[in-house]
Amino acid sequence: MTGDVLLEVRGVSISFGALRAVQGIDLEVRRGQVTSVIGPNGAGKSTLFNLISGNLSPSAGYVALEGRRLSGRPVHEISVLGLGRSFQITNLFFDLTVMENLLVAAQVLEPRQRLLRDPRFSGRAQARAEQLLHQFGLAAKERELAGHLSHGEQRRLEIAVSLAAEPRLLLLDEPTQGMAHEDTAETAALIRRLAEDITILLIEHDVGLVMDISDHVMVMHMGRKLAEGTPSQIRADERVLDAYLGRG
Ligand code: ADP
Ligand code: MG
Repeated sequence: MTGDVLLEVRGVSISFGALRAVQGIDLEVRRGQVTSVIGPNGAGKSTLFNLISGNLSPSAGYVALEGRRLSGRPVHEISVLGLGRSFQITNLFFDLTVMENLLVAAQVLEPRQRLLRDPRFSGRAQARAEQLLHQFGLAAKERELAGHLSHGEQRRLEIAVSLAAEPRLLLLDEPTQGMAHEDTAETAALIRRLAEDITILLIEHDVGLVMDISDHVMVMHMGRKLAEGTPSQIRADERVLDAYLGRG
């Protein structure tokens, strides 16, 4: 149901040596909404995503998707449970084609006994990959190596790859990073379109974009939650203005 809690993050923490990168973060992501995490560089945003996606295990707390605990499960199992993510640093196979990148990611849609076969011959993965090629305007590049795409195309392919397994929650880590202004606007439009069909948890440094497309915003600062609320509540929050957004 729209508005119920899809992802629950409870008291998650992790340290790297003496650095407390994420400290006791609570967050609820509601179905059908765009929830964003903002905060200065080094605040712990990507680490929080790694804790949610299972790339890191929390030293305390847990993450649950639709009431099922994700923490402690391997990444591929978390992906089967319904979580797709794109990384701040590109996570494509540069020496595979655009189509092959999508097919590899769509493999989890196949019945188990098909997994060992050539992905090009399996029906559901193929159909999903073709759908995404068109949806993301990459059909003409189907046979190009991912490594030969422009930066903007790679970011777009990466979002398509994160959607290949038909997740219920999409995690996007700075999808506009390194983009020119027009590409950022295009990506904002793309995220808005995606948000009609899928719940999104977004990390983004472009505060204007975040305020424009989010239903709920959490601000992180030095591993902790500094504030959360609607975009207008965040814009007016004294602590956020002092620590992050600045005044004027
Ligand atoms: P953000 O995404 O908000 O910019 P990160 O989550 O990437 O912040 O990083 C939070 C802090 O944790 C930073 O100080 C970063 O240097 C540190 N950090 C992140 N990953 C690791 C790691 N694997 N090992 C050691 N330190 C890390
Ligand atoms: Mg980051």
